[in-house]
Amino acid sequence: MKLSDRIIGITGNGPDGWGVFLRARQMADTGEQVTELTIGEHDIRTDPTILDAMHRAALSGQTGYAAVPGVAALRDCIAERITARTGIRTGRDNVHITAGGQAGLFASHCAVCDPGDRALFIDPHYTTYPGTIRAASAVPVPVRARARDGFQPRPEAIAEQAAGAASLLINTPNNPTGAVYGTETLTGIADLCREQDLWLISDEVYDTQVWEGAHVSPRSLPGMAGRTLVIGSMSKSHAMTGSRVGWVVGPEEVIARMTDLATATTYGIPGFVQDAALFALRQGEALEERVAAPFRRRRAKAMKILAGQNTLAPVPAQGAMYVMLDVRTTGLSGDDFANRLLDEERIAVMPGESFGRAAAGHIRVALTVEDGALEDALGRIIGFARGIAG
Ligand code: PMP
Repeated sequence: MKLSDRIIGITGNGPDGWGVFLRARQMADTGEQVTELTIGEHDIRTDPTILDAMHRAALSGQTGYAAVPGVAALRDCIAERITARTGIRTGRDNVHITAGGQAGLFASHCAVCDPGDRALFIDPHYTTYPGTIRAASAVPVPVRARARDGFQPRPEAIAEQAAGAASLLINTPNNPTGAVYGTETLTGIADLCREQDLWLISDEVYDTQVWEGAHVSPRSLPGMAGRTLVIGSMSKSHAMTGSRVGWVVGPEEVIARMTDLATATTYGIPGFVQDAALFALRQGEALEERVAAPFRRRRAKAMKILAGQNTLAPVPAQGAMYVMLDVRTTGLSGDDFANRLLDEERIAVMPGESFGRAAAGHIRVALTVEDGALEDALGRIIGFARGIAG
């Protein structure tokens, strides 16, 4: 039987970028000792107090269908948090709760792109972006950010692709590069979005992990609240990746339409999980800082270790839970480097190519194992690279 072009086309008929990760998981499943520095998942688990809140909520009866756009108290809490952090007045009707930031990315593209519309995104990019855009029946159009610009996107480069496009997806703090977009970059992007009448989809799931500079939400820039959809999530800020709670913040009309999409797809997010998210958010910044602290510390350690060699050039990570390394002195692609590193050293990292052409010749190292193991792995990655580079 024929399957739809839409579902067959999601991966763009190329590799989906998860090859090394899946191979490492298979090796680990068969009992091999593999140091996994691939996906962005904390080495701590969700805080037990959050799980207690989830348990209490379930026992108290939050096990039925929850309101489709999200539990009102959670929407209110997120709206208050965003108002406090950005100064832009945000209310419950500006917030739609989704199954993680990922479902928010899909819902946002569904909301603003018609089938066949061009949807711009910045390359290097989080692995799922092109597939998410294709799943929404739009056409992904990468715009390259350059290493020599610190991977800050240039509005002129975006402008070259912007005519007739429906949307632009950006991500700050950035996965995989660690770039935190400066006010100048964001102002340029905001001007361009207004000039070209683009929707801006702003993925801010790493907003609590900023090591240098400050996070600026482009929704707070003049004239942007009416054309920006912000993607947020509990995954990275509260180590709740498996709970699948995220949100989209945007104009009321868009949020109301997203309820129609959710009615046709998920029919809402489990109420007891949303209550746990509410509990977690009410713990305030102290808990967010506790979850971010290991990455802040390890990123500093990694930068120090990497400063002592010149085979692998690190991209200075200003935020998020990764360090990206340029491996081109070895003459290998990021893919070949990562595959050989897995086979020869039993260390799994993501090839830069998994994040687009602009990240080719790089690898991304997730700072997601305890400090000693990370230092040991970095030492071995450097040794491995030196062995090849000669
Ligand atoms: N955006 C970015 C940039 C990410 O790195 C991730 C997860 N790695 C997501 C969105 C999706 O995260 P979640 O669905 O768990 O919120």
